[in-house]
Amino acid sequence: MHAYVIGVDLGGTQVRAALSDATGQIYRRVATATKADEGQDAVIERIKSLIDQVWPKPDQGTVKAIGLAAPGPLDPTSGVIVFAPNLPGWDMVPLRNIIAGAYGLPTFLGNDANLAALAENRYGAGRDIADMIYITVSTGVGGGIITHGGMLLGSHGFAAEVGHMTVEAQGARCLCGNSGCLEAYASGPSIARHAVEALHQGATSMVTDMVAGDLSRITAKELHDAAKAGDRLAQAEFRRAGFYLGVGITSLLHLFNPRMIVLGGSVMKVGALLTDAIWEVIRARAPHQYWEGLSIVSAALGDDVVLIGAIALAEAESQRRGQTMARVP
Ligand SMILES: [Zn+2]
Repeated sequence: MHAYVIGVDLGGTQVRAALSDATGQIYRRVATATKADEGQDAVIERIKSLIDQVWPKPDQGTVKAIGLAAPGPLDPTSGVIVFAPNLPGWDMVPLRNIIAGAYGLPTFLGNDANLAALAENRYGAGRDIADMIYITVSTGVGGGIITHGGMLLGSHGFAAEVGHMTVEAQGARCLCGNSGCLEAYASGPSIARHAVEALHQGATSMVTDMVAGDLSRITAKELHDAAKAGDRLAQAEFRRAGFYLGVGITSLLHLFNPRMIVLGGSVMKVGALLTDAIWEVIRARAPHQYWEGLSIVSAALGDDVVLIGAIALAEAESQRRGQTMARVP
């Protein structure tokens, strides 16, 4: 009989659930719209409904644990979502205990970007790498730090917020309230905002025609297309974002001395334009001992990375518990 785990990825637009085993292979998966505006209780009912849908039939096996991924800030120790910008009204929600109580199973909660790091470490690009940092660059900039083979959580589980490292002390305002955060320079919306400012100041780019003159429609996607077509401004904007990513990564190299950096998220699809700029900064700024054995690679798990992270959390935590119990005489 199989002992499965169930992973749930609670996102601002979609909730997804999957049934998996220790290898990370997905046997059954379902998804539905989050509809966060309908309120917390409705969303929690949708989570339970998805769990029920992937649950194995009695002759197929049992479920040993449930892993939940949610947007932070959240406390993985108490299993409480502190608040969630994408889930209006979610304030100190004990999601882990709600789900554990409903199913009577060991249940674990983790921050989505941290769990994406765990997924890449267990089943993706960073397999068997004990010291690895995952960075996702899309609407925001998030990440997770694997050190000595374990996930770095910090005292309240708020660690590894790589997007809120200061990279420019008097710099641009960030949504978190601070100034000069990496996210304010490298996220998709930040890159687009800077390009629009340049256009307002008289710079020219084919991207203006791509949005029929409506600069408010410019996103990192249009800039990516323009950069591929050789547009100077678009290319410069991505090089600028790459520069700040390189500055942030240089600090991470000094702090954690990783062997691998895994880069994911929609903005990283731009590829060499960003990674060349990142490498240029690292080589210029960090002592060679930090980067000679360093690999910077693309994430391997695609859009499922957070869902697989929830599965990896359930699997890792239930294994750890099993070992602890086995040691009890
Ligand atoms: Zn910030």
